[in-house]
Amino acid sequence: MSKEFNAFAMAQNQFDAVADKLQLDNGLRELLRWPQREYHFTIPVTMDDGSVRVFKGFRVQHNDARGPAKGGIRFHPQETVDTVRALATWMTWKCAVVDIPLGGGKGGVICDPHDLSSREQEALCRGWVRQVARNVGPVQDVPAPDVMTNPQHMVWIMDEYEKLAGGHYPGFITGKPVELGGSLGRTEATGFGVIYTVREALKRSEVPIEGVRASIQGFGNVAQYAAKLLIELGGVVVAVSCWDNDDHTAYTFRKTVGIDMDFLLSITDRFGTIDKDKAEKAGFDVLEADAWLEQEAEILIPAALENQISGDNVGRINKKVKIIAEGANGPTTPEADTVLKERGIFVIPDFLANAGGVTCSYFEQVQCNMNFFWPKQEVLDRLDQKMSRAFKAVADLSDETGEYMRDAAYMIAIQRVATACHLRGWA
Ligand code: NAD
Repeated sequence: MSKEFNAFAMAQNQFDAVADKLQLDNGLRELLRWPQREYHFTIPVTMDDGSVRVFKGFRVQHNDARGPAKGGIRFHPQETVDTVRALATWMTWKCAVVDIPLGGGKGGVICDPHDLSSREQEALCRGWVRQVARNVGPVQDVPAPDVMTNPQHMVWIMDEYEKLAGGHYPGFITGKPVELGGSLGRTEATGFGVIYTVREALKRSEVPIEGVRASIQGFGNVAQYAAKLLIELGGVVVAVSCWDNDDHTAYTFRKTVGIDMDFLLSITDRFGTIDKDKAEKAGFDVLEADAWLEQEAEILIPAALENQISGDNVGRINKKVKIIAEGANGPTTPEADTVLKERGIFVIPDFLANAGGVTCSYFEQVQCNMNFFWPKQEVLDRLDQKMSRAFKAVADLSDETGEYMRDAAYMIAIQRVATACHLRGWA
């Protein structure tokens, strides 16, 4: 990523373009271009060697007109406040497009958890929440895991918050272990959510899901559950790719008759690397990183990283591809997006396609607040309903207006937040 790249400038540009289409008035524009609140703070941690290290932490609340802010906490050595601002902004639009009563927030700490012992990470988590405890909470701002944070971090943060608040508040944070207030179905939620939208897209174009072929980038949480559900529904996954931690490069694993998920998982190590020799012996073709793009398939699902479909490789997309469902956040560059538009490929944009995760986090919060937990199938059925409804609203608008799916999704999300601000008399 170039030094000049600024995620928040990009988020503002995207907003400006849609605000023009919606002819939003100036007050609303100014309000929605910026976070409502930001907290920047220091977190002193006594390290294992007795020294004190001071970490820099953030929490940004972009907009809470539709409900408490919602968004993860990221631990990253290159974290910047502009990244956190952009992610908080995108959370506002993501919650709005699936119509859950939450706003957008995001937090972070500049650190590399790999360099910290478990005790030091616990101290950092507890220190983070002590600094923002007055400004977050089940009715203000609900954090969750993000890059390099996990369910254990969430438990430490919740425990410290409950000590300060003097009661049990499991609805304060999501992404907790199921044993301590987490929701069943959260593990599957994002990948399954992607496929619920794909299924609806196929229905609209009257293409049967049975026998439909998909090529997937990534073989992590999102990719695995997307592949699993697509296969269950009768689809065929002809390729997946993964990052090889030993060779420090990515490979595509192709099997044109369709992958067997159980087998592929059995040869994937705990860091997500698929064993190339075992794959080849089992009849897979092991191809280079970008080969997943050019496979003969009707559906592509980028589910690894941002900036993966770019001006350089968009031309490699197979002519058979009809749908791209963005499981990852920001996998398509604006240059590639223009080409996809020209080719008439139906794109299910990231903040709609991968919103199953935050939707299930919202269900976790609801269950915690009720202190009553739903069976897994109930969680998944509710998720399916939410995702299918959100997809329909965006696809209907796109059909009615001729707008590209990404623009239609932004129009719905921004309009909903603008309406909430307007009704509250904010602008
Ligand atoms: P993960 O860490 O479980 O999996 C990432 C996968 O990408 C791994 O299989 C890895 O091998 C692969 N990968 C990494 N670099 C690659 C490369 N250059 N080429 C090919 N494969 C590569 O992560 P995840 O939770 O599955 O998240 C994937 C994407 O989905 C991210 O963009 C994330 O922000 C987004 N997302 C995840 C969730 C969620 O609930 N997990 C929710 C919304 C969005």
